[in-house]
Amino acid sequence: MNTENLLYLKDSYLKEVETEVKSANGKYVVLEKTIFYAQGGGQPFDTGKIIRLKDNKEFNVVFVGVFNEEVSHEASEEGLQKGDKVKCILNWNRRYMFMRYHTAMHLLISTINKHSGALITGNQISEDKSRLDLSLENFDKEAFIKWIQEVNEIIKTDAKVNNYFIKKDEAMKNPGLFKLKDKLPKDLEEYRITEIERVDIQADGGTHVKSLKEIGRLEFVDAENKGKGRKRVYFRVV
Ligand SMILES: [Zn+2]
Repeated sequence: MNTENLLYLKDSYLKEVETEVKSANGKYVVLEKTIFYAQGGGQPFDTGKIIRLKDNKEFNVVFVGVFNEEVSHEASEEGLQKGDKVKCILNWNRRYMFMRYHTAMHLLISTINKHSGALITGNQISEDKSRLDLSLENFDKEAFIKWIQEVNEIIKTDAKVNNYFIKKDEAMKNPGLFKLKDKLPKDLEEYRITEIERVDIQADGGTHVKSLKEIGRLEFVDAENKGKGRKRVYFRVV
């Protein structure tokens, strides 16, 4: 998959861009470049608008996913054609919430991993809370509460979050970059790295805030024992 045209990987703060329709199949549109995040890695898709510049007609973006190695935008109706010049506008409030959650998720995973050695086995971000599944042996609600408090202390350092690309050879020399259990990295030429200074470094395709204070604060919501080697925690950012 070509990541060059996924503008959010380099700059998660781009809220608008002008581009061109690369191909269209009914309501499904591929753009020359995009600011819309395609659903994946526990982060939901972005929504927003695609405005056709010749007549200012607006199409709502109702879903974004990866199909056949390309990011496909589902428009609310048909009409966009290959070659159309368009302006894309992100539903920024929704996306920014996901950025806060995604960076918070990295902090929580790295904190839990540091204390227990557990790896992440699943995660899902949503607008009002997020959940994280970990390969923990013991179910200990108090431990989750303590780890969340520790994350709140880390946030106060306001460490910077940097995104950059490294070559495959370099990435393979550092297995610690891949923190998802049972998930080997896809075969890519380059890997996008998200580094929270002094705290965490991971190969990652999500969108993040630039510095930790933007997250706000984490609140414990609930924890569930999902069975052997699978413990779940829910949290929200406020
Ligand atoms: Zn991530």
